[in-house]
Amino acid sequence: MTELHHHTLAELAAGLRARRFSSVELTKHFLERIERFNPDLNAFITVTAERALEAAEAADRQLAAGEGSPLLGVPIAHKDIFCTDGVLTTCASRMLSNFVSPYDATVVERLSQAGAVSLGKTNMDEFAMGSSNETSWYGPVKNPWDPTKVPGGSSGGSAAAVAARVVPAATGTDTGGSIRQPAALTGLTGLKPTYGRVSRYGMIAFASSLDQAGTLTQTAEDAALLLSVMAGFDPRDSTSVEAPVPDYLAALDQPLQGLKIGVVKEFFDEGLDEQSAALVREALKQYEKLGARLIEVSLPNLPLSVPAYYVVAPAECSSNLARFDGVRFGYRCENPVDLLDMYTRSRGEGFGPEVKRRIMTGTYVLSAGYYDAYYLKAQKVRRLIADDFAKAFTEVDVLMGPTTPAPAFDIGAQGDDPIKMYLNDIYTIGANLAGLPAMSIPCGFVGHLPVGLQIIGPHFAEAKLLNVAHGYQRETDWHKRIPRGYE
Ligand code: GLN
Repeated sequence: MTELHHHTLAELAAGLRARRFSSVELTKHFLERIERFNPDLNAFITVTAERALEAAEAADRQLAAGEGSPLLGVPIAHKDIFCTDGVLTTCASRMLSNFVSPYDATVVERLSQAGAVSLGKTNMDEFAMGSSNETSWYGPVKNPWDPTKVPGGSSGGSAAAVAARVVPAATGTDTGGSIRQPAALTGLTGLKPTYGRVSRYGMIAFASSLDQAGTLTQTAEDAALLLSVMAGFDPRDSTSVEAPVPDYLAALDQPLQGLKIGVVKEFFDEGLDEQSAALVREALKQYEKLGARLIEVSLPNLPLSVPAYYVVAPAECSSNLARFDGVRFGYRCENPVDLLDMYTRSRGEGFGPEVKRRIMTGTYVLSAGYYDAYYLKAQKVRRLIADDFAKAFTEVDVLMGPTTPAPAFDIGAQGDDPIKMYLNDIYTIGANLAGLPAMSIPCGFVGHLPVGLQIIGPHFAEAKLLNVAHGYQRETDWHKRIPRGYE
């Protein structure tokens, strides 16, 4: 029997319009699943059941009047990095463990104006710094495919929640891979749009030149539905781009005949798990069957992306996180003796070890005497990487390769080795440094663990990426698998 949580967002939206079920029924169904499964998954930091039911009732009234956008009445969840008016917004940090936001992020505002019903805020790595969701002040998130494994990070709570079908879709953010990597490790479709496509207003800043909001969904079609609402110019974000938002749904079914796929040589160099590589190659063959042509391309500077990113991102974070000083909002230490004591102890007690490591690295690379050697050098490397991508896109329509070097690893396995942890991002970081849109879609399993295929496109080619992903999902059913125990 098909149950409500077996449906995609698009199917639920259609069911609501056809009055097969109400938004209140849907919302209750998913809230019950959260109550049942979240104690094991730890995917949510805050569940806003009462608000959700009120929003669902309002949606039902609008649906009865035949009004509203395609998302009217469907449940979703937000990564706890998005400010939500009147709701705890922690960024998974002790520093913000008491912060109730006085306003909505643009992403939250747009989705709620479209009638989507938010069920709550999902767990994540602290300030989105991590690749495994183990740096959260609220504890690690479990991978629904295997509770001994990480779900990936930093949007690990959103990923685990959607994979376990305790919510049909969720928002995420991607600074160096935090949407695509957890999507890959939990068998989901993850979309990181072009830098500037979606407003960053109200999204707690980690590295402002890299951060971008996107989606964790079951299908490319669902990603298209959400992006249609999330994308667009926002005068409150100076880097948001004033360009028209195309009809992402209309482009989904375009034939893939003649598509030129660049297979990135550097993605298959040493370091990639052999079984994952075989699945990615299998997916490429499937694209050939759909009429695409494979062309090997090289991005010679890509191997430098991890070192460049781990200079640029900490530099920006050290500046962004300077605002957390215990004065205006957030955590404040007990009984400070003077101002300096309050600053140092509030920050010392409020931030976790990974955040402190980044702040210290970032402060170091920005200090006089080291700025040229590290920060400036990293920015130059960033330009070279962006140029490599630009050159590749003169020859091909999209680039493909693996999303991660291997399937999900054990919780605790990489915690004491930051360099090893940073290398998980080797295939995802390039797109962030170049500001490009990229996706991960499920393309098979190694044992019981999902593997992701990454698709990267030129700036503002989201419609093309979604079309390419959807074409594959019409022919395969990897994205339909549900982890055991969550059926
Ligand atoms: N894993 C990367 C980091 O730790 C990327 C995180 C992200 O995209 N937010 O910085």
